[in-house]
Amino acid sequence: MFSRVLSGGLQGVDAYQIEVEVDCSSGIGQIQIVGLPDAAVKESQERVRAAVKACAFLVPPGKKWVVNLAPAHTRKEGPAYDLPIAVGVLAATELIPTTHLGSFWIIGELSLDGSIRPVSGVLPIAMAAKAHNAVGIIVPEQNAEEAALVEGLVVYPVSHLHQVCAIMRSPARAAKVDLQPRDTFKRRQKNLNTLADFRDVRGQSHAKRALQIAAAGHHNMLMVGPPGSGKSMLAQRLPSIMPPLSFDEALELTKLYSVAGLLTSKTSLILERPFRAPHHSASASGLVGGGVVPKPGEISLSHMGILFLDELTEFPRAHLDNLRQPLETSSVTISRVSQTLTYPAGFLLVGACNPCPCGYRGDPVKYCTCTPGQADRYWSRLSGPLLDRIDLQVEVSRLKESELAERFGNETSEIMRMRVERAVRRQRQRHANKPFVYNGQLSQSDMAKHCQIDEPSRTLLARAITQLGLSARAYDRVLRISRTIADLDDRNQIKPEDIAEAIRYRTMCRAS
Ligand SMILES: [Zn+2]
Repeated sequence: MFSRVLSGGLQGVDAYQIEVEVDCSSGIGQIQIVGLPDAAVKESQERVRAAVKACAFLVPPGKKWVVNLAPAHTRKEGPAYDLPIAVGVLAATELIPTTHLGSFWIIGELSLDGSIRPVSGVLPIAMAAKAHNAVGIIVPEQNAEEAALVEGLVVYPVSHLHQVCAIMRSPARAAKVDLQPRDTFKRRQKNLNTLADFRDVRGQSHAKRALQIAAAGHHNMLMVGPPGSGKSMLAQRLPSIMPPLSFDEALELTKLYSVAGLLTSKTSLILERPFRAPHHSASASGLVGGGVVPKPGEISLSHMGILFLDELTEFPRAHLDNLRQPLETSSVTISRVSQTLTYPAGFLLVGACNPCPCGYRGDPVKYCTCTPGQADRYWSRLSGPLLDRIDLQVEVSRLKESELAERFGNETSEIMRMRVERAVRRQRQRHANKPFVYNGQLSQSDMAKHCQIDEPSRTLLARAITQLGLSARAYDRVLRISRTIADLDDRNQIKPEDIAEAIRYRTMCRAS
């Protein structure tokens, strides 16, 4: 007998249909798997055999099964094919009916006792199932909520092979997950109250202003200041002033986390913008993504959110240079022998570092003990091209005594966010009929259209270029920041004071 079971495989953040074909013939009781399986897939024959036995199915003796995973040219990895293979084997042996096999996609890892374990990448596979007009999808119970985020797809949660057989006999009677994904998302997002608030940060109005500009126009930022001046505290609060995720954005992020295997049954839907802060000892593949079958790295996991690199100068220079291309294209392409994959990486880079190796250059209280040579070497760890891509460079100095005593009157994140949201709305209106880009990524032609400046501004900018030796790239960045500053002020026209403020954010780096 022959049977065909539908399942899905991953290619980056997207999934494609896999047909698990099983042919049963006379032989010596073995399961042979073909179609470019990796080691975990090959091992599934042992799990399938044990699970079928544990379910007390009377498999007739003297049979052999050939399992083909089609299309044969793509590499299949992981244990998620256990369940479709087991169902295929049972169907080919005529132990379960085959009437409904074509209506479902099936995915799950089997234990030796027949129970079913969760797998990663369920959301993209459920999306692919919907796109292929499948009626429903059978998934491990722990992954059920994730699959149910796809509207219009019936999700059958299962925790044991027995349940799958029952669904095959009578799908109408089986338990289904009923989740109104959009309503659930809105409700959970409303109840979310975990974000740190700017209300708790005393002083630092200069840095807070720069953070609002960063959030509104998606400008990368570097904070320089002595240890303990509150750089991390400020960065951690940046997500709280960014516009909340829309449902579609949340779905896109959830897909990425699903592929990375970072979703749990408790957090099956990403509700807030990510804030990732990898340590400077992180490997290159941990940062940008990699592995035999490339998995998303930190820059992809911070898509639509913040990538915070504390102690920026401690990161190996080669790792930092790897960020340059993703900063331009908002995506990263990883090539390995097995395949080449592209993951989204639209992150906002926020770096923090000390002004010199000892950390106290320019500090009013402690003396800096570094020689000028040491300080130069310290800054040379950051390459010029990377610094050029960081629009906002801000000094975060130690709080004065008067600021330390200050307890009230700090602006809350909510008020700051309203200002940011208004600026983002203005940008969206400008790109009404085109794909949206933030001011930080405006192209030359867009800039010519939206960043026009008057004569006094032009003179001011020209003087800054000659006096400060700004590069052509820096000139464009000043214009983009000025655009965001005007947007934050709800203005169309860029004024000379916007230009002057923008220039200040470009001049402090290496101010040693
Ligand atoms: Zn020093």
